[in-house]
Amino acid sequence: MKVKFLGGAEEVGRLAIKIHESNTNIMVDYGVIPEKPPEYPLPYEKVEGIFVTHAHLDHIGGLPMCYQSHRPDLYATTLTASSMRPMLEDSIKIMDIEGYPKRFARDDINTLYEMVLTSRYGDASQVGEMTATPYSAGHIPGSSMWKFENNMNLLVTGDLYTGDTYLLNGAKPVKAENLIIESTYAGKFHEDRQQVVNRFRERVREVVDNGGKVILPAFAMGRTQELLMILATMDLKVASDGMGNTITNIYLDTPGGFLRSRSELRRAVGRARQIRNNRMRAAAIEENDVIVTTSGMMDGGPVLRYVQELADDPKSAIFLTGYQVEGTNGRSLIETGILNIAGAPVRPSMQLEFFDMSAHAGHDDLVSFIKQVDPQRVILCHGEQREKLIESLPDYEVILPMNGQEFEF
Ligand SMILES: [Zn+2]
Ligand SMILES: [Zn+2]
Repeated sequence: MKVKFLGGAEEVGRLAIKIHESNTNIMVDYGVIPEKPPEYPLPYEKVEGIFVTHAHLDHIGGLPMCYQSHRPDLYATTLTASSMRPMLEDSIKIMDIEGYPKRFARDDINTLYEMVLTSRYGDASQVGEMTATPYSAGHIPGSSMWKFENNMNLLVTGDLYTGDTYLLNGAKPVKAENLIIESTYAGKFHEDRQQVVNRFRERVREVVDNGGKVILPAFAMGRTQELLMILATMDLKVASDGMGNTITNIYLDTPGGFLRSRSELRRAVGRARQIRNNRMRAAAIEENDVIVTTSGMMDGGPVLRYVQELADDPKSAIFLTGYQVEGTNGRSLIETGILNIAGAPVRPSMQLEFFDMSAHAGHDDLVSFIKQVDPQRVILCHGEQREKLIESLPDYEVILPMNGQEFEF
Protein backbone atom coordinates (compact mmCIF):
# COMPACT_ATOMS: atom_id res chain seq x y z
CA MET A 1 0.00 0.00 0.00
CA LYS A 2 1.28 3.44 -0.92
CA VAL A 3 0.01 6.55 0.84
CA LYS A 4 0.64 10.18 -0.09
CA PHE A 5 -0.78 13.21 1.67
CA LEU A 6 -1.59 15.99 -0.81
CA GLY A 7 -2.45 18.08 2.24
CA GLY A 8 -3.38 17.89 5.91
CA ALA A 9 -0.47 15.77 7.13
CA GLU A 10 1.29 18.18 9.51
CA GLU A 11 -1.46 20.80 9.63
CA VAL A 12 -5.11 21.14 10.60
CA GLY A 13 -6.86 21.66 7.30
CA ARG A 14 -6.85 20.81 3.55
CA LEU A 15 -6.86 17.08 4.22
CA ALA A 16 -6.28 15.06 1.03
CA ILE A 17 -4.93 11.51 1.21
CA LYS A 18 -4.10 9.51 -1.91
CA ILE A 19 -4.00 5.75 -1.41
CA HIS A 20 -2.72 3.16 -3.89
CA GLU A 21 -3.34 -0.54 -3.32
CA SER A 22 -3.51 -3.49 -5.76
CA ASN A 23 -4.04 -1.48 -8.96
CA THR A 24 -6.61 0.81 -7.37
CA ASN A 25 -6.07 4.51 -6.67
CA ILE A 26 -8.42 6.30 -4.33
CA MET A 27 -8.43 9.52 -2.37
CA VAL A 28 -9.93 10.50 0.97
CA ASP A 29 -11.14 14.13 1.15
CA TYR A 30 -9.78 17.15 -0.72
CA GLY A 31 -10.18 20.13 1.59
CA VAL A 32 -8.88 23.65 2.06
CA ILE A 33 -7.36 25.65 4.87
CA PRO A 34 -10.12 28.27 5.21
CA GLU A 35 -7.65 31.17 5.24
CA LYS A 36 -8.20 34.46 3.44
CA PRO A 37 -7.82 33.38 0.63
CA PRO A 38 -8.15 29.63 1.21
CA GLU A 39 -5.11 27.38 0.77
CA TYR A 40 -5.56 24.29 -1.38
CA PRO A 41 -3.84 20.87 -1.29
CA LEU A 42 -1.23 19.80 -3.86
CA PRO A 43 -2.82 19.35 -7.30
CA TYR A 44 -5.34 16.56 -7.69
CA GLU A 45 -3.89 13.27 -8.95
CA LYS A 46 -6.19 10.94 -10.91
CA VAL A 47 -8.01 8.35 -8.81
CA GLU A 48 -10.96 6.03 -9.40
CA GLY A 49 -12.91 7.09 -6.35
CA ILE A 50 -12.94 9.89 -3.80
CA PHE A 51 -14.22 9.13 -0.31
CA VAL A 52 -15.49 12.02 1.77
CA THR A 53 -15.33 11.85 5.56
CA HIS A 54 -17.54 14.88 6.30
CA ALA A 55 -18.81 18.18 4.98
CA HIS A 56 -16.44 20.63 6.74
CA LEU A 57 -14.53 22.81 4.28
CA ASP A 58 -11.15 21.61 5.50
CA HIS A 59 -12.20 18.22 4.06
CA ILE A 60 -14.32 19.17 1.02
CA GLY A 61 -13.42 22.77 0.10
CA GLY A 62 -11.31 21.77 -2.95
CA LEU A 63 -13.39 18.81 -4.17
CA PRO A 64 -14.97 20.57 -7.17
CA MET A 65 -11.41 21.10 -8.54
CA CYS A 66 -11.09 17.31 -8.90
CA TYR A 67 -14.00 17.38 -11.37
CA GLN A 68 -12.58 19.92 -13.81
CA SER A 69 -10.71 17.45 -16.01
CA HIS A 70 -11.81 14.09 -14.67
CA ARG A 71 -14.85 12.38 -13.18
CA PRO A 72 -13.98 10.09 -10.30
CA ASP A 73 -16.85 8.50 -8.36
CA LEU A 74 -17.52 10.32 -5.12
CA TYR A 75 -18.53 8.27 -2.10
CA ALA A 76 -20.19 9.90 0.90
CA THR A 77 -22.92 9.18 3.39
CA THR A 78 -26.32 10.47 2.34
CA LEU A 79 -26.19 13.23 4.93
CA THR A 80 -22.65 14.35 4.05
CA ALA A 81 -23.63 14.52 0.38
CA SER A 82 -26.67 16.69 1.07
CA SER A 83 -24.93 19.03 3.53
CA MET A 84 -21.91 19.58 1.24
CA ARG A 85 -23.78 21.57 -1.39
CA PRO A 86 -24.61 24.74 0.63
CA MET A 87 -21.02 24.79 1.92
CA LEU A 88 -19.49 24.56 -1.57
CA GLU A 89 -21.91 27.11 -3.02
CA ASP A 90 -21.10 29.46 -0.16
CA SER A 91 -17.37 29.15 -0.97
CA ILE A 92 -18.07 30.38 -4.50
CA LYS A 93 -19.98 33.32 -3.06
CA ILE A 94 -17.04 34.16 -0.78
CA MET A 95 -14.55 33.91 -3.69
CA ASP A 96 -16.69 36.46 -5.55
CA ILE A 97 -17.26 38.85 -2.64
CA GLU A 98 -13.64 38.79 -1.42
CA GLY A 99 -12.12 38.76 -4.91
CA TYR A 100 -10.17 35.55 -4.27
CA PRO A 101 -8.80 33.58 -7.25
CA LYS A 102 -11.72 31.66 -8.72
CA ARG A 103 -10.62 28.06 -8.30
CA PHE A 104 -13.90 26.44 -9.32
CA ALA A 105 -17.38 27.30 -10.54
CA ARG A 106 -20.94 26.12 -10.00
CA ASP A 107 -20.59 23.80 -13.04
CA ASP A 108 -17.83 21.88 -11.29
CA ILE A 109 -20.10 21.38 -8.28
CA ASN A 110 -22.80 20.09 -10.63
CA THR A 111 -20.36 17.66 -12.27
CA LEU A 112 -19.31 16.47 -8.82
CA TYR A 113 -22.93 15.80 -7.88
CA GLU A 114 -23.40 13.67 -11.03
CA MET A 115 -20.75 11.33 -9.64
CA VAL A 116 -22.03 11.03 -6.05
CA LEU A 117 -22.75 7.55 -4.69
CA THR A 118 -24.31 7.69 -1.24
CA SER A 119 -24.42 5.12 1.50
CA ARG A 120 -25.50 4.59 5.08
CA TYR A 121 -23.18 3.58 7.89
CA GLY A 122 -22.13 -0.05 7.49
CA ASP A 123 -23.02 -0.31 3.76
CA ALA A 124 -20.01 -1.58 1.79
CA SER A 125 -19.11 -0.31 -1.71
CA GLN A 126 -16.71 -1.88 -4.18
CA VAL A 127 -14.14 0.33 -5.91
CA GLY A 128 -11.62 -1.49 -8.10
CA GLU A 129 -10.31 -4.33 -5.97
CA MET A 130 -11.17 -2.63 -2.70
CA THR A 131 -14.19 -2.74 -0.43
CA ALA A 132 -15.00 0.50 1.38
CA THR A 133 -17.35 0.84 4.35
CA PRO A 134 -18.30 4.00 6.27
CA TYR A 135 -18.71 4.01 10.07
CA SER A 136 -19.87 6.89 12.23
CA ALA A 137 -17.05 9.25 13.27
CA GLY A 138 -19.16 11.06 15.91
CA HIS A 139 -17.80 14.44 14.76
CA ILE A 140 -20.76 16.07 12.99
CA PRO A 141 -23.94 14.49 11.61
CA GLY A 142 -23.11 12.27 8.63
CA SER A 143 -19.37 12.22 9.39
CA SER A 144 -17.72 8.91 8.66
CA MET A 145 -14.55 6.95 9.09
CA TRP A 146 -13.84 4.76 6.05
CA LYS A 147 -12.51 1.23 6.27
CA PHE A 148 -10.79 -0.05 3.11
CA GLU A 149 -10.24 -3.78 2.72
CA ASN A 150 -8.65 -6.22 0.32
CA ASN A 151 -5.58 -8.25 1.24
CA MET A 152 -4.62 -5.43 3.61
CA ASN A 153 -6.96 -3.22 5.55
CA LEU A 154 -6.93 0.40 6.53
CA LEU A 155 -9.17 2.61 8.66
CA VAL A 156 -9.17 6.38 7.95
CA THR A 157 -10.93 8.32 10.69
CA GLY A 158 -11.34 11.81 9.26
CA ASP A 159 -12.24 14.09 12.18
CA LEU A 160 -13.24 12.08 15.20
CA TYR A 161 -15.21 12.49 18.42
CA THR A 162 -15.68 9.54 20.75
CA GLY A 163 -17.94 10.99 23.46
CA ASP A 164 -21.75 11.08 23.31
CA THR A 165 -23.45 14.46 22.86
CA TYR A 166 -27.09 15.49 22.73
CA LEU A 167 -26.91 15.26 18.94
CA LEU A 168 -24.66 12.29 18.24
CA ASN A 169 -23.31 9.08 19.68
CA GLY A 170 -19.52 8.92 19.86
CA ALA A 171 -17.46 6.98 17.31
CA LYS A 172 -16.95 3.30 18.10
CA PRO A 173 -13.55 1.76 17.27
CA VAL A 174 -13.35 -0.56 14.25
CA LYS A 175 -10.52 -3.13 14.17
CA ALA A 176 -7.90 -2.51 11.50
CA GLU A 177 -4.25 -3.34 10.76
CA ASN A 178 -3.44 0.17 9.56
CA LEU A 179 -4.92 3.33 10.98
CA ILE A 180 -4.79 6.88 9.63
CA ILE A 181 -6.12 9.07 12.43
CA GLU A 182 -6.55 12.81 13.01
CA SER A 183 -4.57 14.36 15.88
CA THR A 184 -5.94 17.89 16.25
CA TYR A 185 -5.94 17.65 20.06
CA ALA A 186 -2.68 15.74 20.55
CA GLY A 187 -1.27 16.98 23.85
CA LYS A 188 -4.56 18.65 24.81
CA PHE A 189 -7.25 17.44 27.15
CA HIS A 190 -10.97 18.27 27.33
CA GLU A 191 -12.97 19.07 30.45
CA ASP A 192 -15.82 16.61 31.04
CA ARG A 193 -18.54 17.41 28.47
CA GLN A 194 -21.50 17.17 30.84
CA GLN A 195 -19.81 19.55 33.30
CA VAL A 196 -19.22 22.04 30.50
CA VAL A 197 -22.85 21.78 29.43
CA ASN A 198 -24.08 22.26 33.02
CA ARG A 199 -21.92 25.33 33.52
CA PHE A 200 -23.07 26.68 30.15
CA ARG A 201 -26.74 26.29 31.11
CA GLU A 202 -26.18 28.00 34.48
CA ARG A 203 -24.45 30.97 32.85
CA VAL A 204 -27.13 31.35 30.16
CA ARG A 205 -29.77 31.33 32.90
CA GLU A 206 -27.85 33.90 34.93
CA VAL A 207 -27.48 36.35 32.04
CA VAL A 208 -31.15 36.05 31.05
CA ASP A 209 -32.37 36.40 34.67
CA ASN A 210 -30.31 39.60 34.92
CA GLY A 211 -32.12 41.07 31.93
CA GLY A 212 -29.45 40.35 29.32
CA LYS A 213 -29.46 38.50 25.98
CA VAL A 214 -27.12 35.68 25.03
CA ILE A 215 -25.57 35.52 21.57
CA LEU A 216 -24.22 32.09 20.64
CA PRO A 217 -21.98 32.17 17.55
CA ALA A 218 -22.28 28.61 16.24
CA PHE A 219 -21.00 26.53 13.35
CA ALA A 220 -23.78 25.63 10.93
CA MET A 221 -23.11 21.90 11.02
CA GLY A 222 -23.57 20.12 14.32
CA ARG A 223 -23.01 22.91 16.82
CA THR A 224 -26.13 24.91 15.94
CA GLN A 225 -28.31 21.82 16.40
CA GLU A 226 -26.52 20.63 19.54
CA LEU A 227 -27.02 24.04 21.17
CA LEU A 228 -30.71 24.04 20.27
CA MET A 229 -31.02 20.64 21.97
CA ILE A 230 -29.13 21.84 25.06
CA LEU A 231 -31.37 24.91 25.30
CA ALA A 232 -34.63 23.05 24.57
CA THR A 233 -35.28 22.04 28.17
CA MET A 234 -34.58 25.49 29.64
CA ASP A 235 -37.85 27.32 29.07
CA LEU A 236 -36.21 30.21 27.24
CA LYS A 237 -37.14 32.10 24.11
CA VAL A 238 -34.58 30.85 21.61
CA ALA A 239 -34.04 31.89 17.99
CA SER A 240 -31.70 30.50 15.35
CA ASP A 241 -30.36 32.38 12.35
CA GLY A 242 -28.06 31.96 9.35
CA MET A 243 -26.71 28.96 7.46
CA GLY A 244 -27.34 26.81 10.55
CA ASN A 245 -31.06 26.87 9.67
CA THR A 246 -30.40 25.53 6.18
CA ILE A 247 -28.34 22.71 7.64
CA THR A 248 -30.88 21.99 10.40
CA ASN A 249 -33.54 21.50 7.76
CA ILE A 250 -31.27 19.13 5.80
CA TYR A 251 -30.66 17.10 8.97
CA LEU A 252 -34.39 16.90 9.68
CA ASP A 253 -35.16 15.87 6.10
CA THR A 254 -32.53 13.14 5.78
CA PRO A 255 -33.39 9.74 7.24
CA GLY A 256 -30.76 7.05 7.71
CA GLY A 257 -29.83 6.92 11.37
CA PHE A 258 -27.28 9.73 11.27
CA LEU A 259 -28.45 11.41 14.48
CA ARG A 260 -28.88 10.14 18.01
CA SER A 261 -32.57 11.04 17.71
CA ARG A 262 -34.10 12.88 14.78
CA SER A 263 -37.39 13.28 16.68
CA GLU A 264 -35.61 14.93 19.62
CA LEU A 265 -33.86 17.34 17.28
CA ARG A 266 -37.21 18.05 15.64
CA ARG A 267 -38.70 18.85 19.07
CA ALA A 268 -35.78 21.17 19.95
CA VAL A 269 -36.02 22.96 16.61
CA GLY A 270 -39.78 23.29 17.09
CA ARG A 271 -39.20 25.14 20.37
CA ALA A 272 -36.92 27.69 18.69
CA ARG A 273 -37.82 30.29 16.11
CA GLN A 274 -36.00 30.25 12.77
CA ILE A 275 -35.11 33.78 11.66
CA ARG A 276 -35.55 33.91 7.90
CA ASN A 277 -35.41 37.55 6.81
CA ASN A 278 -34.38 41.05 7.84
CA ARG A 279 -37.82 41.93 9.15
CA MET A 280 -37.66 39.00 11.61
CA ARG A 281 -34.02 39.87 12.31
CA ALA A 282 -34.92 43.43 13.35
CA ALA A 283 -37.23 42.12 16.07
CA ALA A 284 -35.16 39.06 17.04
CA ILE A 285 -33.28 40.56 20.00
CA GLU A 286 -36.37 42.19 21.43
CA GLU A 287 -38.39 38.97 21.17
CA ASN A 288 -35.84 36.37 22.30
CA ASP A 289 -33.50 35.56 25.19
CA VAL A 290 -30.93 33.57 23.26
CA ILE A 291 -29.87 33.65 19.59
CA VAL A 292 -27.91 30.80 18.03
CA THR A 293 -26.35 32.07 14.84
CA THR A 294 -23.59 31.70 12.26
CA SER A 295 -20.80 32.25 11.68
CA GLY A 296 -19.20 30.27 14.47
CA MET A 297 -15.97 32.28 14.30
CA MET A 298 -17.80 35.59 13.84
CA ASP A 299 -16.30 36.29 10.42
CA GLY A 300 -19.61 37.06 8.77
CA GLY A 301 -23.24 36.07 8.94
CA PRO A 302 -26.04 37.50 11.10
CA VAL A 303 -23.99 37.14 14.33
CA LEU A 304 -22.24 40.45 13.59
CA ARG A 305 -25.50 42.33 13.33
CA TYR A 306 -26.65 41.03 16.72
CA VAL A 307 -23.34 41.79 18.40
CA GLN A 308 -23.37 45.30 16.99
CA GLU A 309 -26.88 45.83 18.30
CA LEU A 310 -25.97 44.63 21.80
CA ALA A 311 -22.40 45.94 21.90
CA ASP A 312 -23.08 48.55 24.61
CA ASP A 313 -25.02 46.26 26.92
CA PRO A 314 -22.86 44.80 29.71
CA LYS A 315 -25.80 42.67 30.87
CA SER A 316 -25.72 40.71 27.61
CA ALA A 317 -23.18 38.05 26.68
CA ILE A 318 -21.36 36.31 23.87
CA PHE A 319 -20.69 32.65 24.64
CA LEU A 320 -18.26 30.90 22.33
CA THR A 321 -18.46 27.12 22.21
CA GLY A 322 -16.16 26.24 19.31
CA TYR A 323 -12.49 26.52 18.54
CA GLN A 324 -11.57 29.96 17.17
CA VAL A 325 -8.91 29.78 14.47
CA GLU A 326 -6.11 32.34 14.44
CA GLY A 327 -6.93 35.38 12.31
CA THR A 328 -10.71 35.14 12.84
CA ASN A 329 -12.91 37.71 14.56
CA GLY A 330 -13.69 35.23 17.33
CA ARG A 331 -10.02 34.75 18.11
CA SER A 332 -9.41 38.49 18.04
CA LEU A 333 -12.32 39.03 20.43
CA ILE A 334 -10.85 36.52 22.89
CA GLU A 335 -7.33 37.94 22.66
CA THR A 336 -7.97 41.69 22.37
CA GLY A 337 -11.64 42.25 23.14
CA ILE A 338 -12.03 43.82 19.72
CA LEU A 339 -13.70 42.52 16.59
CA ASN A 340 -14.09 43.91 13.13
CA ILE A 341 -17.60 44.67 11.86
CA ALA A 342 -17.86 45.93 8.27
CA GLY A 343 -14.31 47.30 8.37
CA ALA A 344 -14.65 49.12 11.71
CA PRO A 345 -13.25 47.94 15.07
CA VAL A 346 -15.91 47.29 17.72
CA ARG A 347 -15.19 46.65 21.40
CA PRO A 348 -18.38 45.15 22.87
CA SER A 349 -19.02 45.74 26.59
CA MET A 350 -20.82 42.40 26.62
CA GLN A 351 -19.66 39.51 28.79
CA LEU A 352 -17.50 37.01 26.95
CA GLU A 353 -16.97 33.40 27.90
CA PHE A 354 -15.63 30.24 26.27
CA PHE A 355 -17.07 26.76 26.76
CA ASP A 356 -15.07 23.84 25.40
CA MET A 357 -17.60 21.78 23.45
CA SER A 358 -15.04 20.48 20.98
CA ALA A 359 -16.08 17.98 18.30
CA HIS A 360 -12.56 16.50 18.24
CA ALA A 361 -11.32 13.70 20.49
CA GLY A 362 -8.88 14.90 23.16
CA HIS A 363 -5.44 13.35 23.71
CA ASP A 364 -6.64 10.59 26.05
CA ASP A 365 -9.63 9.77 23.85
CA LEU A 366 -7.35 9.40 20.82
CA VAL A 367 -5.02 7.06 22.71
CA SER A 368 -7.84 4.88 24.01
CA PHE A 369 -9.46 4.79 20.53
CA ILE A 370 -6.16 3.74 18.93
CA LYS A 371 -5.67 0.99 21.50
CA GLN A 372 -9.12 -0.41 20.76
CA VAL A 373 -8.58 -0.35 16.98
CA ASP A 374 -5.34 -2.15 17.85
CA PRO A 375 -3.51 -1.63 14.55
CA GLN A 376 0.07 -2.55 13.69
CA ARG A 377 0.68 0.87 12.26
CA VAL A 378 -0.64 4.30 13.25
CA ILE A 379 -0.35 7.19 10.79
CA LEU A 380 -1.02 10.55 12.43
CA CYS A 381 -2.34 13.50 10.43
CA HIS A 382 -4.52 16.65 10.76
CA GLY A 383 -2.49 17.97 13.69
CA GLU A 384 0.15 20.55 14.53
CA GLN A 385 1.58 18.71 17.54
CA ARG A 386 1.35 15.10 16.39
CA GLU A 387 4.61 14.11 18.10
CA LYS A 388 2.94 14.57 21.50
CA LEU A 389 1.06 11.31 20.87
CA ILE A 390 4.16 9.20 20.25
CA GLU A 391 5.02 8.81 23.93
CA SER A 392 1.48 7.58 24.67
CA LEU A 393 1.75 4.89 21.95
CA PRO A 394 4.89 2.88 22.82
CA ASP A 395 3.46 -0.41 21.46
CA TYR A 396 2.77 0.80 17.93
CA GLU A 397 4.70 1.72 14.83
CA VAL A 398 3.82 5.42 14.55
CA ILE A 399 4.31 7.32 11.28
CA LEU A 400 4.25 11.12 11.00
CA PRO A 401 3.98 11.75 7.26
CA MET A 402 4.66 15.10 5.59
CA ASN A 403 2.68 16.65 2.75
CA GLY A 404 3.86 15.52 -0.68
CA GLN A 405 5.94 12.60 0.58
CA GLU A 406 4.85 9.13 -0.57
CA PHE A 407 5.44 6.23 1.79
CA GLU A 408 4.85 2.53 1.43
CA PHE A 409 4.09 -0.30 3.82
ZN1 LIG B 1 -14.37 18.59 10.83
ZN1 LIG C 1 -10.92 18.74 9.95
